[in-house]
Amino acid sequence: LVRLRARLSRSQNALGRSLLVLLSRDALDDEAWEEIEDTLVTADVGVAPSRQIVEDLRTKVKVLGSRDPAEVRALLKDELLGQIGKDWERSLRTEPHGAQPAVVLVVGVNGTGKTTTCGKLARVIVGDGRTVLLGAADTFRAAAADQLQTWGSRVGAEVVRRDEGTDPASVAFEAVKQGIAAGVDTVIVDTAGRLHTKTGLMDELGKVKRVIEKQAQVDEVILVLDATTGQNGLQQARVFAEVVDVTGIALTKLDGTAKGGIVIAVQRELGVPVKLVGLGEGPDDLAPFEPEAFVEAILG
Ligand code: GDP
Repeated sequence: LVRLRARLSRSQNALGRSLLVLLSRDALDDEAWEEIEDTLVTADVGVAPSRQIVEDLRTKVKVLGSRDPAEVRALLKDELLGQIGKDWERSLRTEPHGAQPAVVLVVGVNGTGKTTTCGKLARVIVGDGRTVLLGAADTFRAAAADQLQTWGSRVGAEVVRRDEGTDPASVAFEAVKQGIAAGVDTVIVDTAGRLHTKTGLMDELGKVKRVIEKQAQVDEVILVLDATTGQNGLQQARVFAEVVDVTGIALTKLDGTAKGGIVIAVQRELGVPVKLVGLGEGPDDLAPFEPEAFVEAILG
């Protein structure tokens, strides 16, 4: 976790640094505040939240009546934490219900890091001494099942897969069925993220969820979002959130972008907490999302 935090700091602290530089200017005039707002927008915080942050911060700095860097930093930290939200429930429900495994459905656009996140999440759970079964319900591309299989062998999780083109719902059904029979703790189902049409997506994901629910409760629907895709990714995320009840967001590739402000924008847009962050391609590069650590990383 310490290593992951360091990686997060490296990628994100350009934002904090430039904000702190702007805030330490001699003249904090309209122009300076505008620049601060632009900096936030550039970091993908979103237009409305950026305006809000600047408005609040402006008032607080005035009330403070001092420009002591440590005090200004504390104000900025509070403001960012307030926007990120400390009170969301961010823990992932992966504990079995008696004889029933917990079921985690992983959804999102192809290329966002869905399969990788399934593998890394399995690794975390196996690392906690529990058992995982992975379901390869992305049957659209054979390579997706191969990739999940590789992750399965890597982290020590069984994989249920079928031929390319098989109905994703039947693979999901089979995975949960085998998970129950084998008494595993958690079943993680990887899905296809084709944004063909909204109704097509709705039919497919809806069916996957319904057939799972014939046998077990779906505990989490994790939407994977690539942090480097900005507003475009946000728009796609919105479509997914409309077709399936998302319970949490996994924000991937935060190691490759200084645009961590997307955390604020996506939670605000979807009304769902960021629960996981992806900080690299390796098996240990997944971390729970911790607002405090995240803001500290941003502020460097
Ligand atoms: P899927 O199509 O959504 O299943 O996406 P994949 O899991 O195949 O990931 C697409 C690419 O993104 C792969 O090259 C992954 O290694 C890479 N990737 C996934 N998560 C992360 C991350 O957190 N950081 C970085 N740098 N790369 C990632």
